[in-house]
Amino acid sequence: MRSGIGWDSHRLEAGRPFVLGGVTIAHETGPVGHSDADVLTHAVIDGLLGAAGLGDIGTHFPDTDPAFAGADSLALLREAVRLVADAGFVATYADTTVVLERPKLGAHRAAMAAGLTEALGAPVNVKASTGEGIGFVGREEGVAALAVVTVETR
Ligand code: MG
Repeated sequence: MRSGIGWDSHRLEAGRPFVLGGVTIAHETGPVGHSDADVLTHAVIDGLLGAAGLGDIGTHFPDTDPAFAGADSLALLREAVRLVADAGFVATYADTTVVLERPKLGAHRAAMAAGLTEALGAPVNVKASTGEGIGFVGREEGVAALAVVTVETR
């Protein structure tokens, strides 16, 4: 059994769709990025790749590659699961935390967990925390996410 950590953050800007864990949330701002800028899914991908010793998300899905412009991050997670399987590992669990001031995520947590669980092929727990009004999260300049992903040999 091995585990990997994932961290991601993206800047928030007005008029961007807010995709988090594959769920699009109605809000006046959304994260800026090359793909759909889904920080939660990116953190899970990095945790998964880390647990398998396969580098990081930028190694496999570079943000300079036009193929990944606007990419659905859940599809990238499914591809990462295939890479990890080829390396001889399967995910068994992921615990995650989204760090975000607004909007509140309570109404969306179950849908995010369900989509991530389906894509990872293992249970994903989604927690939420705020920036308490300080730092880039607290000032609503950005959103961040953390994940710890556990894998075992197939
Ligand atoms: Mg990212």
